[in-house]
Amino acid sequence: MISSNVFAQDYWQQEVNYTIQVRLNDNNHTLSGFEVFEYVNNSPNTLDRIYMHVWPNAYKDGSSALAKQLYRQGDGKLTFAKEEDRGYIDSLNFKSEGTPLKWEYDAENPDICVIYLNTPLRNGDRVRITTPFKVKIPSGEISRMGHIGQSYQITQWYPKPAVYDKNGWNAIPYLNQGEFYSEYGSYDVSITLPKNYIVGATGDLQTKSEVAFMDEQVKLTGEKIESWISNMEKEKKGSFPESSSEMKTIRYTQSQVHDFAWFADKRYGVLKGEVELPHSKRKVTSWALFTPQNAKYWKYAIEYINDGTYYYSLWNGDYPYNQVTAVDGTISAGGGMEYPNVTVIGNSSSKEELEVVIVHEVGHNWFYGILGSNERVHGWMDEGMNTLNEMRYMQTKYPNNTRFSDMILNGRFHLEDLDHHDSGDITYSTVASLGLDQPIETHSDQFTSINYGGIMYQKTGLVFFYLKDYLGEEKFNAAMSAYFEAWKFKHPQPEDMRKVLETTSGKDLSWLFDDLIQTTNHVDYKLKNVGIGKQGAVVRVKNVGQVNGPIEVNVYSKDQLVETHWLEPGQTAATLKTPFKDIQKVIIDESKDIPELNRNNNTWRANTLLHKIEPIKQEFLFSDNEADHNSVRWTPMLGGNVYDGFMLGATFHNLGLPFQKFSYVLTPMFGFYSKKPVGMAEFSYTILPKKGLKVEHLGLSVKSFSRNSFSGENFVALTPYWSAAIGNRKNRSNISQDVLLKGLYGIKTSEFGEKETGAMTQYAFQYSNPDHQFGVKLRAEYLNGEQVQVGRISVTAKYDWRYLKNKMERKLELRAFFGSNVLYKQTMSPIQIYSDRYSLSMSGGRGNQDLFYEEYNFARNDVSGFWSQQRMENYGNFKSTSNFGVTSSWLGSVNLIFNYRLNQIFLVFSRIMVHSRTALRFKQLTMLG
Ligand SMILES: [Zn+2]
Repeated sequence: MISSNVFAQDYWQQEVNYTIQVRLNDNNHTLSGFEVFEYVNNSPNTLDRIYMHVWPNAYKDGSSALAKQLYRQGDGKLTFAKEEDRGYIDSLNFKSEGTPLKWEYDAENPDICVIYLNTPLRNGDRVRITTPFKVKIPSGEISRMGHIGQSYQITQWYPKPAVYDKNGWNAIPYLNQGEFYSEYGSYDVSITLPKNYIVGATGDLQTKSEVAFMDEQVKLTGEKIESWISNMEKEKKGSFPESSSEMKTIRYTQSQVHDFAWFADKRYGVLKGEVELPHSKRKVTSWALFTPQNAKYWKYAIEYINDGTYYYSLWNGDYPYNQVTAVDGTISAGGGMEYPNVTVIGNSSSKEELEVVIVHEVGHNWFYGILGSNERVHGWMDEGMNTLNEMRYMQTKYPNNTRFSDMILNGRFHLEDLDHHDSGDITYSTVASLGLDQPIETHSDQFTSINYGGIMYQKTGLVFFYLKDYLGEEKFNAAMSAYFEAWKFKHPQPEDMRKVLETTSGKDLSWLFDDLIQTTNHVDYKLKNVGIGKQGAVVRVKNVGQVNGPIEVNVYSKDQLVETHWLEPGQTAATLKTPFKDIQKVIIDESKDIPELNRNNNTWRANTLLHKIEPIKQEFLFSDNEADHNSVRWTPMLGGNVYDGFMLGATFHNLGLPFQKFSYVLTPMFGFYSKKPVGMAEFSYTILPKKGLKVEHLGLSVKSFSRNSFSGENFVALTPYWSAAIGNRKNRSNISQDVLLKGLYGIKTSEFGEKETGAMTQYAFQYSNPDHQFGVKLRAEYLNGEQVQVGRISVTAKYDWRYLKNKMERKLELRAFFGSNVLYKQTMSPIQIYSDRYSLSMSGGRGNQDLFYEEYNFARNDVSGFWSQQRMENYGNFKSTSNFGVTSSWLGSVNLIFNYRLNQIFLVFSRIMVHSRTALRFKQLTMLG
């Protein structure tokens, strides 16, 4: 065994010890308190100030980082909150030894302040600081702290020093997306509130009368729980009982924790249990506090709390405190939220969901509570590691679970065998296949909402699950226990974790810590072949992905797994123990525990001609993509347009979850009016480059429909394309840039038809934030028809301004377009060929002007009537179509649209449009306003 001290040499951390008295006023939803904290400077530096978090001020108004983040994510709840729903902290008066201290709010963040010390604090010194405080508790619908009626969730509620570590002060504003980083120390908290409140809190309850009160509640709950369940509908409407006029003061103490939270509700039922820890055999008391309306699922809560506590202890290290509590709360910040010893759980729709949330939140006692990493910057160190343990828990307790299938559509659509791990796998690979993923190591506030869950939680869980498989349970548990021992009650950084895991496992884990955590590089291993070598059967693999990690190979004989082989990073071949003649199938990672984006190149079969082609399986509508077969999915398809009439056919495709590199959609149909076979097809191949581009697509789309009703002619357009999203997948960005290259090959199908070839390129730039959007699109097009040759350049600029007032949207849209046919050559001169297909038109484009068949049209050739009313985004014109102002030269237009909503019913809008053009024949300037 390696001594745990080795890993934390030269490490220091500060200490803060609190004594807080607080009183709840449940008439006006306020807290009044008095706090004393002792700050111990263990750092080698002398401190002249202390940065403080006064986080209730995050709920003050639209200026806080919390309000801005919520607004950015489309949630104006706080920005537009009514006065009564907001919250704040005030009445602060920091003193040391009775002498007032100079202090001020941070210029940018109302929820951060700085206290200037009267005497500098040297290494080893301690200072005692006191302050009164008053908190107005915000609405519980905004974020984690708040009240819903008289149900109280008192979190991030008292003045608290920010962490000072080797990187300096970590003064951070409160955020909804982004969690915590706090100093360890002890808490002594006395809460005064009406007598009939039931409280769940951090720490050990010290008040004897309250211990008896809680035991009494356990007894009462035992008597009432069954009637609560059978009267669930009635309980739902249950209101808060009258608050007792008598008050009580209850006291909790705890040491070696970095926060204190408490939850109070008069309606709570209480269940109490006990769990024996696996290593020390010490007993821990478990508590479940829940509202009667949720009794149906919560009656199992003690089992979930106990099992969670047991398994996390088993795999990481024993729970070091005396009690573990889960409370039922109506929080708006996701499914649940963790605090030391106590976790708050949101509403669950099934007992399975409740179990996962309780286990996850209880698990945070390890990854957040005991291992106090900087969650704001390295969120994966708590959320991701916790997700790993949650995945392990589900796999251990329910080895054959189909939890994910049950969750989505009850396992319909061939999604019947997906377990809890698969839900993470599909989430990650879907985001990654779209080129939308960010690295695991991304600042919480820099994550997009989807990646906060899909990458920080799920991908981290998958990546460490992969490590667990590679090292084996025993070695992995030893490594995690060593990490726990070395860093419990401390602030580990990613490099500290890596050092422990590499030292205890004896492996170089750069493929994990450098590639899978720091980058969006993707894993894809390929089974090349199985052949005969000198020593016997040899399996050869190839790394066709971007991560050089270990590869698991499973060997099957007579439908039995007979051998598992791990190839070390970089190793490409291995000699198998199984004789070649006995091998039925060799597969990379049969259990899908390696987070690969493409599993279609993982299998080799002995008894088929083409050893690596997966058998085809036909499935209706939709399904998940599995490694061992190619799914062809089909669904009947209906359609309709003016010329083909009602269309009936079928779609055959391989779209499914997760997405595949190569995808196809084929839709043959028959038009009942035109009496013609029509339809479309799309083939696309996805490339995910390491740098410069987020995602590329190479593809071909084919469309064939009738062009008009008089000649019976239909068009067949083949458009090969390459498209790409420019940028890196690193940080969330307001800017998107896309490029497109497209060709056109139009086949002539009748004498009235046109044979056309052409090419176009387009660049689009877009800036968006919740209120403003600005976009520019540049296009260059060239088309060679039988009678006309046209070359066109165009630019479209668009600016949208939207703002909300009293939750009503007001909108300004400004659009400018300029297009010019720089080349326009008629080959059939001197007779003038009139075809508006190659022209720009002032008052509206019609389907025929969609040169590259980018749009779907109900009536491609119509110039009037309902079906022609389609805006042609790329040609700068009105929505209604006419042949007015058709030009083959140039056209410029400016549109201004303004919507002003007076109230929920009335909307005033105005549209101003100015178009200008020159026509080929007349060379005159026409204005249309
Ligand atoms: Zn979590």
